[in-house]
Amino acid sequence: MSRFARKPAPAASRDAVRAALAEVRAVYADLDRRPVERACTRLTECCQFKRTGLTPSVTRGEALLAAQALRATGRKQPPPSVNGACPMLDALTGKCLIYADRPFGCRTHFCPAAGGPYARRDVLDLIRRLEAVDAALGEHDGPKPFLAALDAVS
Ligand code: SF4
Repeated sequence: MSRFARKPAPAASRDAVRAALAEVRAVYADLDRRPVERACTRLTECCQFKRTGLTPSVTRGEALLAAQALRATGRKQPPPSVNGACPMLDALTGKCLIYADRPFGCRTHFCPAAGGPYARRDVLDLIRRLEAVDAALGEHDGPKPFLAALDAVS
């Protein structure tokens, strides 16, 4: 590690992780209540990372929730990626394994069919809350690409 590299976030207590997971879920629930027209019909276009060249950035709190949601499916690790798609996209069913707990970026993405991206001003307060969760967890490096974020909490 370079002398200038940041140290990894310290291990958080169980209570801190529990509080982080609850707040991330609350942020997602508040997002669902925003009066922004959305129509995600699970086309899964946004899950095709290699094809689109776009991957959601995810905070540490969100990665912890995604990892917990994955464990709830009986898996310890995401399945291998197929054709460069998000590994959370089940190759058998074509559905997201963690849809109820999918990251913020998967909910506010660019998908034209779902209504295009959210305006940042419409969700800035929620982004700040996700940042506050990470600060409470001792993570100050900002969001990471989804798979890197998952690796960091595995
Ligand atoms: S977490 Fe789910 S919704 Fe998000 S990119 Fe992966 S498969 Fe798609």
